[in-house]
Amino acid sequence: MSVEDRVLIAGAGPVGLVAAANLVRNGVPVTVLEAGSDLSEESRASTFHPPTLDMLERLGAAQPLIAQGLPAPAFQYRSKQHGVLAQFDFGTIADVTGHPYRVQCEQSKLTRILHEQLRGHADFELQFGAQVREVTQSAAGVQVEIASNGRSETRSGRWLIGADGAGSAVRRSLGIPFEGFTWPERFLVVSTPFDFSAVIPDLVAVSYVTDAVRWHFLLQIPGLCRVMFPIAPDESDKLTLRPDFAQSLMAMVVPGIANYEIAHVTLYKVHQRVAKTFQHGRAFLVGDAAHINNPLGGMGMNGGIHDAINLTTRLVDAWQGKTKNGSKTGELERYDMQRRLVTLEYIEKQSIQNKRNLESDGTEFRRTLAEIVADKGRTYDYLLRVSMIASLRRAQELG
Ligand SMILES: Cc1cc2nc3c(=O)[nH]c(=O)nc-3n(C[C@H](O)[C@H](O)[C@H](O)COP(=O)(O)OP(=O)(O)OC[C@H]3O[C@@H](n4cnc5c(N)ncnc54)[C@H](O)[C@@H]3O)c2cc1C
Repeated sequence: MSVEDRVLIAGAGPVGLVAAANLVRNGVPVTVLEAGSDLSEESRASTFHPPTLDMLERLGAAQPLIAQGLPAPAFQYRSKQHGVLAQFDFGTIADVTGHPYRVQCEQSKLTRILHEQLRGHADFELQFGAQVREVTQSAAGVQVEIASNGRSETRSGRWLIGADGAGSAVRRSLGIPFEGFTWPERFLVVSTPFDFSAVIPDLVAVSYVTDAVRWHFLLQIPGLCRVMFPIAPDESDKLTLRPDFAQSLMAMVVPGIANYEIAHVTLYKVHQRVAKTFQHGRAFLVGDAAHINNPLGGMGMNGGIHDAINLTTRLVDAWQGKTKNGSKTGELERYDMQRRLVTLEYIEKQSIQNKRNLESDGTEFRRTLAEIVADKGRTYDYLLRVSMIASLRRAQELG
């Protein structure tokens, strides 16, 4: 088969567009195939961690994101009975990041910033309404069958990056199992313009509240606070999406305050799944196509962006013929080895632990937090871990 001299990317979410941006700025032509008719508006990720901001800085996207977001230099754990249990300040790790804070900003802002920067570039092509269906490969490249405007089309490239989200057609077509489980609970996100900092003493922009019955967290983004609650399996979707149900949950957040103005309510299923491999020949999986996890700690999209940078840096080297031992595949295989391992060791493990901590009765978690806060070395290591710097270091160590 004849192969177009470019890299194909399925999906124009935050991960697919970061991959595109890193390839294009290094002179690699890219075609992004996006099933939707426009970039997604869905309100999902809203936290960007320090090393992700460092990566976006190199792509020229960090400053516009920060300008539209809310820098959050600290986060805290609280309980209803004890108030603030512990507060952590990213300034402690300012020696290892150019951005010692999280930025609270919706992921749809990032995709628009990147698209704006890429559009019109000679090496960048984005096809909306192009749903990837099937992937076939040869020794020289990858062929993708897409459904577009009711017709079937074929595109080809030297490599394919599957950034097409949790239901990835690329992953399915390659026959890669998505191993893991789905939690029995779902999560409900209620967004309100209410200013909680006026009524909760010492509240910071990111606050996790432990409770054995109905833990929740409060995440401030510009103009809105997102409050997330677990929903038990016996609470039906119909009940959960009733306005009075959201109000009843919100009424538990601050005693004596009820009838919130609610901007939107969204119910999510929650999974922990990792693809059996992130590479199959000339096709790769990144972001939610490769791994999904619960949103506690804000690591899904961030981890996906870390995948995209790791992989595309290798693809740029391969494109430019800079390879170790003349072997292109050896370098590319390290992507799967590094990123899959840290996904399991850090993202999956930490997000599960975060959920366990919040839903526990709090006794052991309070003790652990007190020990971490009392020890400067442990505080520093803890911040490296939650900011995801430790996972990037671990990937590097794997060589
Ligand atoms: C409530 C909630 C809160 C979250 N908060 C955070 C957070 O704070 N921080 C964090 O890091 N993560 C968070 N996440 C996770 C985060 O939203 C995802 O990890 C992130 O969206 C993954 O990006 P992606 O580009 O891999 O996939 P997606 O954002 O799902 O994008 C995939 C794209 O591919 C397109 N597509 C799908 N199928 C096809 C196809 N067959 N052909 C072509 N295109 C296709 C889709 O239309 C979409 O545009 C949260 C998730 C939820 C649900």
